Amino acid sequence: MERAYPTIEILDIPVAALSTQDALAQIQRIYEHEGGGLVAYANAHTLNLAVTDPAYAGILRRAAIVLNDGSGIGLAARIKGRSFPANLNGSDLNPRILGLAAARGWPVYFLGARPGVAQQAAAAMTALHPALRVAGHRDGYWLPEDTSRVTETIRASGAGLLMVALGNPLQEKWLDQHLAATGARVGVGVGAFFDFAAGAVVRAPKWMNRWGIEWVFRLMQEPRRLWRRYVVGNPLFLARVLRARLRGSPPEA
Ligand code: UDP
Repeated sequence: MERAYPTIEILDIPVAALSTQDALAQIQRIYEHEGGGLVAYANAHTLNLAVTDPAYAGILRRAAIVLNDGSGIGLAARIKGRSFPANLNGSDLNPRILGLAAARGWPVYFLGARPGVAQQAAAAMTALHPALRVAGHRDGYWLPEDTSRVTETIRASGAGLLMVALGNPLQEKWLDQHLAATGARVGVGVGAFFDFAAGAVVRAPKWMNRWGIEWVFRLMQEPRRLWRRYVVGNPLFLARVLRARLRGSPPEA
């Protein structure tokens, strides 16, 4: 697939290699000049998932754009002799995407997280960007038989940008299957962003972010759920990247 921007292949997934400004420009292009599509974040955890979930890997390969989130994927690029211009983690980039939506007049729907959280996230983002047009919001828990009602509600809201917080890889799979039915042009899988934006989950201090160890903070908050993801997953991810490198894919130019 020809892409209009440079990429770095990490574990067979082409990840955009862009500055924050250029990533926003690409999202605008995808929304306004292309057929739209999926905006996904990739990090060590999600790329580990993609290795063992071919359907998810296929969705990431077909996505309009995959953005590099976190220091693990940055290190993976360096192992290949490349580097990403910026770390495009969702906690920082999603508010910027919503700033773009506000500036361009794109109506935004917030779908996902526990009841009340999407609404709080929308309110927090409206406080940040008063021009933001919130088309609607709803939580991320519904019965499978209600899916068409959910997509119909989004379609009726007139949303052009759909932010979906259902966790990985569910949110990307959901968008792959249902974005067209919602009528939205662009869908972004945002993970725990609504929880952060609503203040339901506390974010790591800035210095941890700078050091690339925000995951240590998340791990301390939810050790039971997250130790496999980080303590097992991070070394596993790097081992996979190193193995791919040693198997012969030469460093990219
Ligand atoms: N979530 C949801 N519906 C689901 C599963 C998860 O709305 O069926 C929400 C959850 O409330 C949270 C977000 O998805 O706001 C991310 O969930 P989680 O932290 O499990 O995702 P991960 O950290 O695995 O990306």
